[in-house]
Amino acid sequence: MKLVCLGGFGEQGRSSLYVEGRSRFLVDYGIKKVEHEGTLGELPLNHSIEPEFVLLTHAHQDHSAMLPLLVEKGFRVPVYCTLPTKELTIQLCRNWYETYRSKNLEPPYKLESVEELEKLLIPVPYNETFQPSSGTRVTFYPSGHLVGSAIVYIEDELTIAHFGDTNFGDRFNPDPFLDLEAEVGIINGSYGGAVMNSQQLRKNFLATVQSSQRTVLIPCASIGRGQEICAVLIEQETLNKPIYVAKSVLENTKKLLDFKEFLRFGAVDTLNRLLKSPRIKVIEEAHLHDLIAQGSILIGPDAMLSSQIALKIFDVIKNCAQDLVILNGYQAPGTLGRRLLDGELKGIKVRVVYSELKIHTDLEDNERIIERCLSKARLILIHHGEEPKATNLAKALKRKFPNLDIRAPHTGDEIHI
Ligand SMILES: [Zn+2]
Ligand SMILES: [Zn+2]
Repeated sequence: MKLVCLGGFGEQGRSSLYVEGRSRFLVDYGIKKVEHEGTLGELPLNHSIEPEFVLLTHAHQDHSAMLPLLVEKGFRVPVYCTLPTKELTIQLCRNWYETYRSKNLEPPYKLESVEELEKLLIPVPYNETFQPSSGTRVTFYPSGHLVGSAIVYIEDELTIAHFGDTNFGDRFNPDPFLDLEAEVGIINGSYGGAVMNSQQLRKNFLATVQSSQRTVLIPCASIGRGQEICAVLIEQETLNKPIYVAKSVLENTKKLLDFKEFLRFGAVDTLNRLLKSPRIKVIEEAHLHDLIAQGSILIGPDAMLSSQIALKIFDVIKNCAQDLVILNGYQAPGTLGRRLLDGELKGIKVRVVYSELKIHTDLEDNERIIERCLSKARLILIHHGEEPKATNLAKALKRKFPNLDIRAPHTGDEIHI
Protein backbone atom coordinates (compact mmCIF):
# COMPACT_ATOMS: atom_id res chain seq x y z
CA MET A 1 0.00 0.00 0.00
CA LYS A 2 1.24 3.49 -0.86
CA LEU A 3 0.37 6.72 0.96
CA VAL A 4 1.25 10.05 -0.66
CA CYS A 5 1.21 13.16 1.55
CA LEU A 6 -0.23 15.77 -0.82
CA GLY A 7 -0.79 18.38 1.86
CA GLY A 8 -1.25 19.04 5.56
CA PHE A 9 1.81 17.10 6.78
CA GLY A 10 4.35 19.19 8.73
CA GLU A 11 2.01 22.11 8.07
CA GLN A 12 -1.54 23.19 8.81
CA GLY A 13 -3.72 23.59 5.73
CA ARG A 14 -4.32 21.94 2.29
CA SER A 15 -4.99 18.58 3.97
CA SER A 16 -4.90 15.79 1.42
CA LEU A 17 -3.75 12.19 1.48
CA TYR A 18 -3.65 9.96 -1.60
CA VAL A 19 -3.86 6.22 -1.02
CA GLU A 20 -3.08 3.42 -3.45
CA GLY A 21 -4.07 -0.01 -2.24
CA ARG A 22 -6.73 -2.25 -3.72
CA SER A 23 -8.42 1.06 -4.62
CA ARG A 24 -6.98 4.49 -5.36
CA PHE A 25 -8.53 7.33 -3.41
CA LEU A 26 -8.06 10.69 -1.73
CA VAL A 27 -8.90 11.70 1.80
CA ASP A 28 -9.67 15.48 1.77
CA TYR A 29 -8.59 18.17 -0.66
CA GLY A 30 -8.29 21.52 1.10
CA ILE A 31 -6.60 24.89 0.81
CA LYS A 32 -3.71 26.27 2.82
CA LYS A 33 -4.63 29.83 3.49
CA VAL A 34 -1.83 32.32 2.89
CA GLU A 35 -2.10 35.93 1.90
CA HIS A 36 0.64 36.80 -0.53
CA GLU A 37 0.58 38.84 -3.71
CA GLY A 38 -2.04 37.46 -6.06
CA THR A 39 -3.16 34.44 -4.07
CA LEU A 40 -5.24 33.51 -1.07
CA GLY A 41 -4.03 29.98 -0.67
CA GLU A 42 -1.81 27.09 -1.64
CA LEU A 43 -3.16 23.88 -3.13
CA PRO A 44 -2.33 20.23 -2.42
CA LEU A 45 0.75 19.10 -4.38
CA ASN A 46 0.29 18.44 -8.05
CA HIS A 47 1.20 14.77 -7.91
CA SER A 48 0.02 12.39 -10.61
CA ILE A 49 -3.09 10.88 -9.08
CA GLU A 50 -6.00 8.89 -10.40
CA PRO A 51 -8.56 8.68 -7.60
CA GLU A 52 -11.58 6.43 -8.03
CA PHE A 53 -13.33 8.25 -5.19
CA VAL A 54 -12.76 10.83 -2.47
CA LEU A 55 -13.49 10.57 1.25
CA LEU A 56 -14.15 13.94 2.87
CA THR A 57 -13.72 14.24 6.64
CA HIS A 58 -15.42 17.62 7.19
CA ALA A 59 -16.37 21.01 5.81
CA HIS A 60 -13.48 23.20 6.94
CA GLN A 61 -11.62 25.06 4.19
CA ASP A 62 -8.33 23.30 4.91
CA HIS A 63 -9.98 19.94 4.10
CA SER A 64 -12.57 20.70 1.44
CA ALA A 65 -12.18 24.06 -0.30
CA MET A 66 -10.24 22.83 -3.34
CA LEU A 67 -12.57 19.95 -4.29
CA PRO A 68 -14.01 21.94 -7.25
CA LEU A 69 -10.48 21.99 -8.67
CA LEU A 70 -10.45 18.19 -8.72
CA VAL A 71 -13.60 18.34 -10.85
CA GLU A 72 -11.79 20.70 -13.23
CA LYS A 73 -8.87 18.30 -13.44
CA GLY A 74 -11.34 15.80 -14.84
CA PHE A 75 -11.92 13.67 -11.75
CA ARG A 76 -15.70 13.44 -11.77
CA VAL A 77 -15.65 10.80 -9.05
CA PRO A 78 -17.95 10.29 -6.06
CA VAL A 79 -17.05 12.29 -2.96
CA TYR A 80 -18.41 10.59 0.18
CA CYS A 81 -19.15 12.65 3.29
CA THR A 82 -21.90 13.23 5.86
CA LEU A 83 -24.94 15.36 5.03
CA PRO A 84 -23.85 18.46 7.01
CA THR A 85 -20.42 18.22 5.37
CA LYS A 86 -22.06 18.17 1.94
CA GLU A 87 -24.18 21.25 2.56
CA LEU A 88 -21.48 23.25 4.34
CA THR A 89 -18.81 22.36 1.76
CA ILE A 90 -20.87 23.71 -1.11
CA GLN A 91 -21.53 26.91 0.83
CA LEU A 92 -17.83 27.19 1.67
CA CYS A 93 -16.64 26.65 -1.93
CA ARG A 94 -19.06 29.33 -3.16
CA ASN A 95 -17.76 31.69 -0.45
CA TRP A 96 -14.18 31.05 -1.51
CA TYR A 97 -15.06 31.85 -5.09
CA GLU A 98 -16.66 35.14 -3.97
CA THR A 99 -13.73 35.98 -1.69
CA TYR A 100 -11.29 35.73 -4.59
CA ARG A 101 -13.60 37.89 -6.69
CA SER A 102 -14.05 40.51 -3.97
CA LYS A 103 -10.27 40.90 -3.80
CA ASN A 104 -9.99 41.18 -7.61
CA LEU A 105 -8.15 37.87 -7.80
CA GLU A 106 -8.75 35.07 -10.28
CA PRO A 107 -10.57 32.27 -8.41
CA PRO A 108 -8.81 28.89 -8.61
CA TYR A 109 -12.00 27.34 -10.06
CA LYS A 110 -15.16 28.29 -11.89
CA LEU A 111 -18.50 28.65 -10.15
CA GLU A 112 -19.91 25.93 -12.43
CA SER A 113 -17.37 23.50 -10.97
CA VAL A 114 -18.93 24.06 -7.55
CA GLU A 115 -22.34 23.14 -9.02
CA GLU A 116 -20.71 20.09 -10.61
CA LEU A 117 -19.16 19.12 -7.29
CA GLU A 118 -22.55 19.30 -5.59
CA LYS A 119 -23.77 16.44 -7.82
CA LEU A 120 -20.75 14.32 -6.87
CA LEU A 121 -21.06 14.71 -3.09
CA ILE A 122 -22.76 11.60 -1.73
CA PRO A 123 -24.06 11.85 1.83
CA VAL A 124 -23.48 8.78 3.98
CA PRO A 125 -24.71 8.25 7.55
CA TYR A 126 -22.38 7.72 10.48
CA ASN A 127 -21.70 4.13 11.59
CA GLU A 128 -22.86 2.44 8.34
CA THR A 129 -20.28 0.63 6.23
CA PHE A 130 -20.41 1.15 2.48
CA GLN A 131 -18.33 -0.07 -0.43
CA PRO A 132 -17.08 2.73 -2.70
CA SER A 133 -15.28 0.17 -4.90
CA SER A 134 -15.08 -3.61 -4.92
CA GLY A 135 -11.87 -3.88 -2.86
CA THR A 136 -12.65 -1.30 -0.21
CA ARG A 137 -15.09 -0.83 2.64
CA VAL A 138 -15.50 2.51 4.41
CA THR A 139 -17.28 3.68 7.57
CA PHE A 140 -17.68 7.26 8.80
CA TYR A 141 -17.75 7.77 12.57
CA PRO A 142 -18.28 10.97 14.61
CA SER A 143 -15.05 12.87 15.28
CA GLY A 144 -16.36 15.57 17.66
CA HIS A 145 -14.86 18.61 15.88
CA LEU A 146 -17.51 20.23 13.65
CA VAL A 147 -21.08 19.31 12.82
CA GLY A 148 -20.88 16.23 10.57
CA SER A 149 -17.11 15.84 10.98
CA ALA A 150 -15.91 12.28 10.63
CA ILE A 151 -13.24 9.75 11.43
CA VAL A 152 -12.86 7.80 8.20
CA TYR A 153 -12.31 4.07 8.74
CA ILE A 154 -11.07 2.27 5.63
CA GLU A 155 -10.76 -1.49 5.11
CA ASP A 156 -8.50 -2.02 2.10
CA GLU A 157 -5.18 -3.94 1.87
CA LEU A 158 -4.72 -2.64 5.39
CA THR A 159 -7.18 -1.03 7.77
CA ILE A 160 -6.70 2.73 8.05
CA ALA A 161 -8.26 5.06 10.63
CA HIS A 162 -7.93 8.65 9.42
CA PHE A 163 -8.96 10.76 12.39
CA GLY A 164 -9.13 13.98 10.35
CA ASP A 165 -9.80 16.79 12.81
CA THR A 166 -10.93 15.24 16.07
CA ASN A 167 -11.89 16.72 19.44
CA PHE A 168 -13.13 15.52 22.81
CA GLY A 169 -15.48 17.52 25.04
CA ASP A 170 -16.84 19.75 22.29
CA ARG A 171 -19.92 21.70 23.34
CA PHE A 172 -21.96 20.86 20.24
CA ASN A 173 -20.57 17.64 18.79
CA PRO A 174 -20.58 14.11 20.22
CA ASP A 175 -17.23 12.67 21.33
CA PRO A 176 -15.23 10.68 18.78
CA PHE A 177 -16.10 7.02 18.23
CA LEU A 178 -13.23 4.89 19.51
CA ASP A 179 -14.48 1.31 19.21
CA LEU A 180 -12.27 0.54 16.26
CA GLU A 181 -8.87 -0.93 15.64
CA ALA A 182 -6.64 -0.06 12.70
CA GLU A 183 -3.27 -1.03 11.25
CA VAL A 184 -2.55 2.51 10.06
CA GLY A 185 -3.58 5.59 12.02
CA ILE A 186 -3.51 9.24 10.98
CA ILE A 187 -3.86 11.55 13.96
CA ASN A 188 -3.98 15.31 14.48
CA GLY A 189 -0.90 17.30 15.50
CA SER A 190 -2.38 20.83 15.78
CA TYR A 191 -1.27 21.33 19.39
CA GLY A 192 2.01 19.43 19.18
CA GLY A 193 2.95 17.89 22.54
CA ALA A 194 0.76 20.30 24.56
CA VAL A 195 -2.05 19.40 26.95
CA MET A 196 -5.06 21.69 26.56
CA ASN A 197 -7.60 21.86 29.38
CA SER A 198 -10.94 22.96 27.83
CA GLN A 199 -12.42 24.31 31.07
CA GLN A 200 -9.32 26.27 31.97
CA LEU A 201 -9.03 27.66 28.44
CA ARG A 202 -12.66 28.84 28.58
CA LYS A 203 -11.98 30.54 31.94
CA ASN A 204 -8.84 32.23 30.59
CA PHE A 205 -10.73 33.35 27.51
CA LEU A 206 -13.46 34.92 29.61
CA ALA A 207 -10.93 36.65 31.86
CA THR A 208 -9.27 38.11 28.76
CA VAL A 209 -12.60 39.45 27.51
CA GLN A 210 -13.29 40.95 30.94
CA SER A 211 -9.91 42.65 30.99
CA SER A 212 -10.91 44.97 28.17
CA GLN A 213 -11.64 48.61 28.88
CA ARG A 214 -13.85 49.23 25.87
CA THR A 215 -14.49 47.22 22.70
CA VAL A 216 -13.35 43.64 22.08
CA LEU A 217 -13.00 42.23 18.58
CA ILE A 218 -13.04 38.42 18.50
CA PRO A 219 -12.37 37.16 14.98
CA CYS A 220 -13.56 33.55 14.62
CA ALA A 221 -15.12 31.07 12.21
CA SER A 222 -18.84 31.68 11.88
CA ILE A 223 -19.75 28.03 12.43
CA GLY A 224 -18.59 26.08 15.46
CA ARG A 225 -16.20 28.52 17.10
CA GLY A 226 -18.64 31.45 16.73
CA GLN A 227 -21.35 29.61 18.68
CA GLU A 228 -18.83 28.31 21.25
CA ILE A 229 -17.66 31.85 22.01
CA CYS A 230 -21.25 33.13 22.31
CA ALA A 231 -22.04 30.26 24.70
CA VAL A 232 -18.96 31.00 26.84
CA LEU A 233 -19.92 34.68 27.02
CA ILE A 234 -23.64 34.38 27.81
CA GLU A 235 -22.94 31.91 30.62
CA GLN A 236 -21.21 34.79 32.36
CA GLU A 237 -24.01 36.97 33.64
CA THR A 238 -21.75 39.61 35.13
CA LEU A 239 -20.35 40.41 31.71
CA ASN A 240 -22.05 43.70 31.06
CA LYS A 241 -20.99 44.50 27.52
CA PRO A 242 -23.48 43.94 24.69
CA ILE A 243 -22.54 41.12 22.29
CA TYR A 244 -22.77 41.68 18.54
CA VAL A 245 -22.16 38.87 16.05
CA ALA A 246 -21.52 38.94 12.31
CA LYS A 247 -24.65 38.02 10.35
CA SER A 248 -23.12 34.71 9.24
CA VAL A 249 -22.63 33.68 12.90
CA LEU A 250 -26.37 34.09 13.48
CA GLU A 251 -27.26 32.32 10.21
CA ASN A 252 -25.02 29.39 11.10
CA THR A 253 -26.51 29.16 14.59
CA LYS A 254 -29.85 28.54 12.86
CA LYS A 255 -28.21 26.27 10.27
CA LEU A 256 -26.82 24.00 13.01
CA LEU A 257 -30.39 23.34 14.13
CA ASP A 258 -31.04 21.78 10.69
CA PHE A 259 -28.63 19.02 11.74
CA LYS A 260 -30.04 18.20 15.17
CA GLU A 261 -29.40 14.46 14.86
CA PHE A 262 -25.67 15.12 14.39
CA LEU A 263 -25.35 17.17 17.59
CA ARG A 264 -24.50 16.19 21.12
CA PHE A 265 -27.22 15.90 23.78
CA GLY A 266 -27.99 19.40 25.09
CA ALA A 267 -26.57 21.24 22.07
CA VAL A 268 -30.00 22.10 20.68
CA ASP A 269 -30.95 23.81 23.97
CA THR A 270 -27.72 25.79 23.93
CA LEU A 271 -28.29 26.92 20.34
CA ASN A 272 -31.87 27.94 21.13
CA ARG A 273 -30.62 29.88 24.16
CA LEU A 274 -28.20 31.77 21.91
CA LEU A 275 -30.94 32.55 19.40
CA LYS A 276 -33.33 33.79 22.10
CA SER A 277 -30.79 35.72 24.14
CA PRO A 278 -31.53 39.46 24.20
CA ARG A 279 -27.81 39.99 24.87
CA ILE A 280 -26.79 38.80 21.39
CA LYS A 281 -27.50 41.06 18.41
CA VAL A 282 -26.25 41.26 14.84
CA ILE A 283 -23.56 43.77 13.84
CA GLU A 284 -25.06 46.45 11.62
CA GLU A 285 -22.30 48.07 9.63
CA ALA A 286 -24.09 51.42 9.56
CA HIS A 287 -23.84 51.62 13.36
CA LEU A 288 -20.32 50.24 13.70
CA HIS A 289 -18.77 53.43 15.08
CA ASP A 290 -21.49 53.69 17.76
CA LEU A 291 -21.05 50.03 18.76
CA ILE A 292 -17.31 50.53 19.14
CA ALA A 293 -17.64 53.83 21.05
CA GLN A 294 -20.13 52.36 23.56
CA GLY A 295 -17.85 49.38 24.28
CA SER A 296 -19.09 46.13 22.72
CA ILE A 297 -17.97 42.59 22.08
CA LEU A 298 -17.86 42.04 18.30
CA ILE A 299 -17.68 38.42 17.09
CA GLY A 300 -16.77 36.85 13.74
CA PRO A 301 -16.96 36.15 10.93
CA ASP A 302 -13.48 34.76 10.15
CA ALA A 303 -10.64 33.60 12.34
CA MET A 304 -7.68 35.35 10.78
CA LEU A 305 -8.94 38.90 10.24
CA SER A 306 -9.40 38.48 6.50
CA SER A 307 -13.05 39.35 5.94
CA GLN A 308 -14.21 42.80 4.94
CA ILE A 309 -16.20 43.43 8.13
CA ALA A 310 -13.41 42.26 10.46
CA LEU A 311 -10.92 44.48 8.61
CA LYS A 312 -13.31 47.41 8.84
CA ILE A 313 -13.66 47.00 12.60
CA PHE A 314 -9.91 46.57 12.99
CA ASP A 315 -9.31 49.77 11.06
CA VAL A 316 -11.47 51.74 13.50
CA ILE A 317 -9.91 50.31 16.67
CA LYS A 318 -6.29 49.86 15.63
CA ASN A 319 -5.14 53.13 17.21
CA CYS A 320 -7.20 52.84 20.41
CA ALA A 321 -5.21 51.52 23.36
CA GLN A 322 -8.35 50.76 25.40
CA ASP A 323 -9.68 48.30 22.78
CA LEU A 324 -8.74 44.64 22.47
CA VAL A 325 -8.42 42.02 19.72
CA ILE A 326 -8.58 38.38 20.88
CA LEU A 327 -7.12 35.97 18.36
CA ASN A 328 -8.14 32.43 19.23
CA GLY A 329 -7.31 29.88 16.58
CA TYR A 330 -4.77 29.00 13.91
CA GLN A 331 -3.47 32.09 12.10
CA ALA A 332 -2.10 31.38 8.62
CA PRO A 333 1.08 33.06 7.36
CA GLY A 334 0.51 36.40 5.70
CA THR A 335 -2.91 37.02 7.26
CA LEU A 336 -3.44 40.11 9.38
CA GLY A 337 -4.04 37.86 12.39
CA ARG A 338 -0.63 36.18 12.00
CA ARG A 339 1.17 39.45 11.35
CA LEU A 340 -0.33 40.91 14.54
CA LEU A 341 0.70 37.83 16.52
CA ASP A 342 4.22 38.01 15.12
CA GLY A 343 4.43 41.71 16.05
CA GLU A 344 5.01 42.69 12.43
CA LEU A 345 2.67 45.69 12.48
CA LYS A 346 4.37 48.68 14.01
CA GLY A 347 2.64 51.76 15.35
CA ILE A 348 -0.75 50.27 16.19
CA LYS A 349 -2.06 50.87 19.70
CA VAL A 350 -4.86 48.30 20.09
CA ARG A 351 -4.02 45.46 22.51
CA VAL A 352 -3.75 42.07 20.77
CA VAL A 353 -3.99 38.88 22.84
CA TYR A 354 -3.97 35.22 21.82
CA SER A 355 -6.40 33.11 23.85
CA GLU A 356 -7.05 29.59 22.50
CA LEU A 357 -10.18 27.48 22.88
CA LYS A 358 -9.80 23.75 22.32
CA ILE A 359 -11.04 22.37 19.00
CA HIS A 360 -8.50 19.59 18.25
CA THR A 361 -7.02 16.60 20.05
CA ASP A 362 -4.15 17.41 22.40
CA LEU A 363 -1.37 15.10 23.63
CA GLU A 364 -3.58 13.26 26.16
CA ASP A 365 -6.40 12.83 23.62
CA ASN A 366 -3.96 11.39 21.08
CA GLU A 367 -2.61 9.01 23.72
CA ARG A 368 -6.17 7.88 24.42
CA ILE A 369 -6.80 7.34 20.69
CA ILE A 370 -3.65 5.24 20.39
CA GLU A 371 -4.49 3.16 23.48
CA ARG A 372 -8.02 2.50 22.27
CA CYS A 373 -7.64 2.18 18.49
CA LEU A 374 -4.00 1.99 17.43
CA SER A 375 -2.20 -0.08 20.07
CA LYS A 376 -1.35 -2.72 17.45
CA ALA A 377 -0.89 -0.32 14.51
CA ARG A 378 1.95 -0.88 12.07
CA LEU A 379 2.23 2.83 11.42
CA ILE A 380 0.93 6.05 12.97
CA LEU A 381 1.29 9.33 11.08
CA ILE A 382 0.88 12.83 12.49
CA HIS A 383 -0.85 15.25 10.17
CA HIS A 384 -2.27 18.79 10.56
CA GLY A 385 0.58 20.24 12.60
CA GLU A 386 3.04 22.99 11.73
CA GLU A 387 6.63 22.14 12.53
CA PRO A 388 8.06 21.79 15.13
CA LYS A 389 4.67 20.82 16.64
CA ALA A 390 4.20 17.67 14.53
CA THR A 391 7.67 16.38 15.37
CA ASN A 392 7.25 17.30 19.06
CA LEU A 393 4.03 15.29 19.20
CA ALA A 394 5.69 12.30 17.50
CA LYS A 395 8.53 12.44 20.06
CA ALA A 396 6.17 12.74 23.04
CA LEU A 397 4.07 9.80 21.79
CA LYS A 398 7.19 7.71 21.11
CA ARG A 399 8.17 8.13 24.77
CA LYS A 400 4.81 6.70 25.84
CA PHE A 401 4.58 4.05 23.10
CA PRO A 402 8.22 3.09 22.31
CA ASN A 403 7.22 -0.02 20.36
CA LEU A 404 5.02 1.78 17.84
CA ASP A 405 6.20 3.32 14.56
CA ILE A 406 5.04 6.94 14.99
CA ARG A 407 6.17 9.47 12.40
CA ALA A 408 5.65 13.10 11.45
CA PRO A 409 6.11 13.02 7.67
CA HIS A 410 6.12 16.13 5.51
CA THR A 411 4.04 17.13 2.55
CA GLY A 412 5.56 15.49 -0.50
CA ASP A 413 6.59 12.32 1.31
CA GLU A 414 5.57 8.91 -0.06
CA ILE A 415 5.18 6.05 2.37
CA HIS A 416 5.14 2.40 1.38
CA ILE A 417 3.73 -0.13 3.85
ZN1 LIG B 1 -11.38 21.35 10.94
ZN1 LIG C 1 -8.29 21.24 9.78
